[in-house]
Amino acid sequence: LQKHKHPHVAKVSIEGIKHIIAVSSAKGGVGKSTSAVNLALGLSSQDLSVGLLDADVFGPSIPLMMDLKGQEKPLVNDNNQMVPLINYGIKCMSMGFLVDEDDAIVWRGPMVMSALEKLLRQTNWGLLDVLVVDLPPGTGDAILTMCQRVPLSGAVIISTPQDVALADVVRGVNMFKKVNVPILGLVENMSHFNCPHCHESTHIFGSEGAKKTAQKMGINFLGDIPIHLEIRETSDSGKPITITQPNSPQAKIYKDISKEI
Ligand code: ADP
Repeated sequence: LQKHKHPHVAKVSIEGIKHIIAVSSAKGGVGKSTSAVNLALGLSSQDLSVGLLDADVFGPSIPLMMDLKGQEKPLVNDNNQMVPLINYGIKCMSMGFLVDEDDAIVWRGPMVMSALEKLLRQTNWGLLDVLVVDLPPGTGDAILTMCQRVPLSGAVIISTPQDVALADVVRGVNMFKKVNVPILGLVENMSHFNCPHCHESTHIFGSEGAKKTAQKMGINFLGDIPIHLEIRETSDSGKPITITQPNSPQAKIYKDISKEI
């Protein structure tokens, strides 16, 4: 990467935003967006002003998960900036607010990059303590470029405990290291299942893989989140568990992780 570094790639900060934190996963479907939403809400419950940018332009989940689907498109103010949609006290911006859900987006890398830059920089975020960015999965070009251009305070990596997911994690960690983005830590999602009937805990995808990978790579292990029916139900119905069941053990895990980052 050093060899290919472009001298003109510079990080340009965004006025009014103190910290930008990326939530990333090397693979799709591991619970990155669910975690990004609940971590953003966890940060917000600490009296921080929080924004949430859905950078997953091909599969935006934030409109659904933040119960902002089917709203009017964001307004554009006099400075040609989009006004974010707000729910649960969080300012949100997503490609899903701008394009029809059923329209396939067929874009090449540079177009993805410019769409991301627009969502990020042409939104009137106002003053924010933290902007949480739900990155697209993987380590593709657009993500790499974004990490090079956006002054990220750090990245949180979400993984399941499976070997295959963890091999990808190593790639993800290395990507952030290459672009000098501090890794705030690794979260193991879907780490185990506590049976509500027999109360036994089962490690469906294997045990403690992420913890060991974190140790091996010298990064922080931020915690594990079980597979839980209500995390799924609340996430997919736009009523996140940290809001609807703030005193549940699951909400507590998200809040504890958000205190650590
Ligand atoms: P990604 O952003 O990595 O693609 P999502 O956050 O969209 O993943 O999650 C994929 C699916 O798994 C969603 O239906 C979501 O509700 C569910 N899910 C995520 N985390 C959990 C969890 N800890 N327990 C149960 N279901 C979960």
